[in-house]
Amino acid sequence: MPNPLYDALFATLTLRTNPLLILEGGEKVTGASFHAMIARAANALRSAGVQAGDRVAVQIAKSPEALAIYGATVSIGAVFLPLNPAYTLPEVGYFLNDATPRLFICDPAKAEVLAGVAGQTALKTLNAKGGGSFGADLSDAEPVFAPEERLGSDLAAILYTSGTTGRSKGAMLTHDNLLSNAQTLADLWRFTALDVLLHALPIFHTHGLFVASNVSLLTGGQMIFLPGFDAGTVLRLLPQATALMGVPTFYTRLLEDARFDHALTAHMRLFVSGSAPLLADTHRQFYTRTGHRILERYGMTETNMNTSNPYEGERRAGTVGFPLPGVELRIMAEGAEVPQGGVGGIEVRGPNVFAGYWQMPEKTREELRPDGWFITGDLGQIDADGYVQIVGRAKDLVISGGFNIYPIEVELALDDHPDVLESAVIGLPHPDFGEAVFAVLVAQKGKALDPDAVLASLSNRLARFKQPKSAVVLDELPRNTMGKVQKAALRASYAAWFQPKA
Ligand code: AMP
Repeated sequence: MPNPLYDALFATLTLRTNPLLILEGGEKVTGASFHAMIARAANALRSAGVQAGDRVAVQIAKSPEALAIYGATVSIGAVFLPLNPAYTLPEVGYFLNDATPRLFICDPAKAEVLAGVAGQTALKTLNAKGGGSFGADLSDAEPVFAPEERLGSDLAAILYTSGTTGRSKGAMLTHDNLLSNAQTLADLWRFTALDVLLHALPIFHTHGLFVASNVSLLTGGQMIFLPGFDAGTVLRLLPQATALMGVPTFYTRLLEDARFDHALTAHMRLFVSGSAPLLADTHRQFYTRTGHRILERYGMTETNMNTSNPYEGERRAGTVGFPLPGVELRIMAEGAEVPQGGVGGIEVRGPNVFAGYWQMPEKTREELRPDGWFITGDLGQIDADGYVQIVGRAKDLVISGGFNIYPIEVELALDDHPDVLESAVIGLPHPDFGEAVFAVLVAQKGKALDPDAVLASLSNRLARFKQPKSAVVLDELPRNTMGKVQKAALRASYAAWFQPKA
């Protein structure tokens, strides 16, 4: 009975006696014991009443059991719905009410309060050490099971988008979406059974759950499976790894440590970055320090991965490379494709593109065209050699006095100032201009910044309308767990900056 994800990712684990997961303290989980864990989870889920098509929501710490619950859920034909442990009570309440899962597995420490928002959903618990009511179910369950038959077009997961501008939307991802993308990435990035992937990403997000775990599972490699990113632990375990996938903050943190150098990384095959823009400066600094060029790729919850820099050939700093094989990408403005080099909205089409937003047909129609093109909401351009560059989110575009300003252009100019480490440019309400350009600056280590002097340095570099009208200096930019700068939070903090004082 075919089940695309089970067949490709999990079925052969029964035969594997070598480690699949290597944990922080050196403990190993073999392929066969991980398969048994999946089987136990599958039986425990079925005993809890989960049937094909049901959603299984989890808000639990990263652990082998948590990954096994993902495997078990898709193997029994149910739909995996992971939630960021940082979500608050009302947020979890919204997700449970929206997705109506059959079962919700949460941290035992939060069970009592979460029960208050779980409504009709049955609740079980699991902690990072395998404790909790679902942990007990796992121990009691049989280690063998039969997977459920599924079509490639059946749902495997619902991942909620971060929803910075409105209600979070549940992106419905099929077996084919996940599998096709894992196969493409594994081929492109040359993953094999000899690889040891250092896995320090969360598994509630597309990057850690699908890009990292699926690619590794598909190709039969091993994963050093860490509960999260800690630079010291990563430095200690890096000698055992061949590949690392990370968000840009992983790389800036590693570069802050003098132990991270050529010798420590000489054996590494690949460093991948994504989920947020990698500064061209970080890319270059990384090369100088290690001799490796980070491979940057671009994707999103709704589409899995869309583009990647090449494995062989130039990995161009500040770009996200070329559309993946089988994925079409175009740049659109005012209903037409823009000429090469022009900026516009990025649209993608391919087997990676999701099936729509859960119970939001109108939102789906707004963003997913009938002919399969998905409007990503990202702005981009394609250079003369075909490399795609992300210019920002469409919603972050600043329109000041009727002129469009792409924040990244201003950020890159600011970042060139020798004392600026990084910057975020946002639009703030302004009585004359509608919006005014505003910069948030972070100083290089040990440097003091005078915001006005930094802004003055742009005078011959950028047209006047692009130059920030004002700037502040912060110790660091607000980022979420995936390393994305929280521009909405910045806009909220400084909303009154240009308003007339009462
Ligand atoms: P998420 O759905 O949380 O994975 O966020 C997807 C968004 O992250 C994309 O739409 C982009 O705006 C951004 N993103 C992902 N990868 C990159 C990248 N390499 N460079 C710039 N932005 C990126």
